[in-house]
Amino acid sequence: MDLTFSPQEIAFRDELRGWLAANQPDAAPVDGGEDAQYQWRRDWQRRLYDAGWAAPAWPVEYGGRGASLTESAIYYEEIGRSRSPLAANTLGLLLGGPTLMVWGTDEQKERYLPPILSAEEIWCQGFSEPEAGSDLASLKTRAVKDGEEWVVTGQKVWTSGAQYSKWCMLVARTDGDVPKHKGLTYFLMDMEQDAVQVRPLRQITGEDEFNELFIEEARIPDANVIGGVGNGWKVALTTLMNERAGLGFALQIRLRQLLDDTIAVAAERGLLEDPVYADELAELHTRCESIRLLAWKGLTDVERYGQPGPEGSLVKWLWSDTNQRLTQLAVDIVGPAALTAGTSWSYEFLRARGNTIEGGTTEVLKNIVAERVLGLPRLKVAV
Ligand SMILES: Cc1cc2nc3c(=O)[nH]c(=O)nc-3n(C[C@H](O)[C@H](O)[C@H](O)COP(=O)(O)OP(=O)(O)OC[C@H]3O[C@@H](n4cnc5c(N)ncnc54)[C@H](O)[C@@H]3O)c2cc1C
Repeated sequence: MDLTFSPQEIAFRDELRGWLAANQPDAAPVDGGEDAQYQWRRDWQRRLYDAGWAAPAWPVEYGGRGASLTESAIYYEEIGRSRSPLAANTLGLLLGGPTLMVWGTDEQKERYLPPILSAEEIWCQGFSEPEAGSDLASLKTRAVKDGEEWVVTGQKVWTSGAQYSKWCMLVARTDGDVPKHKGLTYFLMDMEQDAVQVRPLRQITGEDEFNELFIEEARIPDANVIGGVGNGWKVALTTLMNERAGLGFALQIRLRQLLDDTIAVAAERGLLEDPVYADELAELHTRCESIRLLAWKGLTDVERYGQPGPEGSLVKWLWSDTNQRLTQLAVDIVGPAALTAGTSWSYEFLRARGNTIEGGTTEVLKNIVAERVLGLPRLKVAV
């Protein structure tokens, strides 16, 4: 990976920086709770969309700019650097759209891609179930064919943003007589039907970021099967690969900003002279740099193999671990204000707890790194 930007990449970065400087998002709403926050992020995505900046990595024919891998990484770094909020339809932009581009029919792409970009239709990811998270292929939600439709019954959990979503990327079992990975199908389920009940789950931060979904004989037309009946595992892997790839760049910049903010407070309080804090901040600085460079190195895999490689798991593991260490240290440096409800410090501290679970738990990521990056043998447990 050559980290020197070409004139074209510099022009791309400068154009985006210029646009972001001239188009700061409105201040986050103070009242109105999560609904208002969500609307604020939706409005922000709409502004990005109107200016052609919602998803520059998407091909021009689907409303993107056909940005190269490096430009796309620059995009996420600049969005992170500008401290703009995440676009409301992040799951649609990062996971749903790219999955549809690989597996969708022309009709599906034409119908679903434009409203993902404009945030008119929000997407959520209905993969995890109460007894199937890391071992996704064990899922039990069942879809049975009925004429030209599928009838779906089951339960999903941890479904982020389901309360705002029009469409759910749903993986369900369509054949119970074949090995578990082979009996799955990937659907696009309309959330606006009585058979789908969304129950928000309150998190430690006080937010209802994710939900339980109770699905009782929901109907999905045949036309909303993505990638063919029985092919759901492969389609789901496309979604999961994209999950760990794109966000990495924005997350590592946010980590850097939080570290800089923490160092600034430590400096104000004279704590940089204290070797305990100085050592820990230096260690976090080194980790931040390693994560940044690993994220860039990950682009080489995409260039070589056409899709993100298992190294993305390493970045996700290091990022989540570092973010938890940093937010814990920030509490020690900032003091009681960091444990007071409503402060950004307390939010960061509490929200970081979920980092080692979401998008693949640390234990599972370590297995992937051990087996697929380091080539270590699989652990065989004697029973
Ligand atoms: C903030 C947040 C948002 C999320 N959003 C979504 C979403 O929008 N859609 C969605 O579908 N899911 C979502 N998830 C769910 C997430 O993907 C799962 O929580 C995750 O895959 C783990 O599954 P689980 O919770 O069922 O834990 P389990 O798989 O039951 O794991 C329990 C424990 O066992 C460990 N473990 C499991 N298997 C192994 C193994 N083979 N080797 C070693 N240890 C193992 C795990 O590391 C964990 O510590 C979200 C989670 C969070 C925290």
